[in-house]
Amino acid sequence: MSPQPSLPSWATWWQRPFPDANTLLLHGQQPALVDTGFVGHAEETAAWARAHVGELGLVVNTHWHSDHVGGNALLQEQGATVAAGAPEAEAIGRRDPGCCAAEYLDQPVAAYTVDVPLDDGQVLRLGDAEWEVVRTPGHTPGHLALWQPEERLLVAGDALSDYDVGWVNLAVDGLEAATTALASLERMADLAPRVILPSHGPIPADPGAAFAAALRRAQRLVDDPDGTVWYGARRIFAFALMIRDGIPTDDVEPYLHARAWVTDAAQLLDLTRVPCHRAGHDHARQRRRHPARRPPLRRRRPHTCGGRVTARAVPARMAGFGAALTRGGTWTGGPAAARSGSLVRSGRAGRCQPTSRRPDSSAPPVRPSGRTGGVVVQASTTTT
Ligand SMILES: [Zn+2]
Repeated sequence: MSPQPSLPSWATWWQRPFPDANTLLLHGQQPALVDTGFVGHAEETAAWARAHVGELGLVVNTHWHSDHVGGNALLQEQGATVAAGAPEAEAIGRRDPGCCAAEYLDQPVAAYTVDVPLDDGQVLRLGDAEWEVVRTPGHTPGHLALWQPEERLLVAGDALSDYDVGWVNLAVDGLEAATTALASLERMADLAPRVILPSHGPIPADPGAAFAAALRRAQRLVDDPDGTVWYGARRIFAFALMIRDGIPTDDVEPYLHARAWVTDAAQLLDLTRVPCHRAGHDHARQRRRHPARRPPLRRRRPHTCGGRVTARAVPARMAGFGAALTRGGTWTGGPAAARSGSLVRSGRAGRCQPTSRRPDSSAPPVRPSGRTGGVVVQASTTTT
């Protein structure tokens, strides 16, 4: 096993299993927490921070996905200030129904506000050290990284991990999102960090190798938009299985049909089977017979030629993906879902009790309890 890269004495990093993102605690005059885990584990997150630093001054989010902002509401109630990337801060301030993509992804988030919008190049005092905000859009438009130049630490969020790159949402963020994510990775690689702190999985032993692998993967997302859509679908669905602790087989198809992201994926892939009454043919079948005629992926408008836009083909393919997860009439959550969804290469994933679906970010969801765990990395074990 490779030795763990060293962290300074003022940083404690908590590697957490899904559905929580890893958490970084920065000690000093203004104790700060970077990302706050999944909502079902908010109490645990707050207790952990309190045990290490007492009162927390500031929470900084790399982006607004549910596994990164779940403790925000509770910590804010307890007096912490919340800082996040400006585009996301503005949307939260407007009470935009798309906030946190909570409804779109069917992932619960307890309502919070952003007190400090962050712009590219802004310098923040976290603990006793100065960190630079590096805007790194792609995985989400407001995604940011944090750079500490003296120690050359890079908090990378979901942009990359030791084994993966963040999925990109071509339907919501546009087909250029993959190119944007690649450019953000190049910008981070140019910083040549000594330590990359990713939001999922371990600290990469070799930052250069991690960036080289991530850049290759990100280039594939650019080159293969269809594959990118499927990759995102697998990630979203695997996360749903985990936070619900599995979904009964009979419920899977209705669940998928009710999801906007499935309909969007179908439209992007042009798998919507719409009988065209005027032409009397099936567009998707024609494309399969004549693949050469298939145009490059672009955003298509739903058909309106007398048919109903359906997304049958996506759940059918997801069923193939889910076959490996089916156990005793239930699609399992937990580690199997995480592995199959490429959420982790190996190792453990957390499980939660089922959560209530939350229509938007204006009201707190039922907070599930669940098994948690992880690895805490701090100076006592890693500082050289
Ligand atoms: Zn994310």
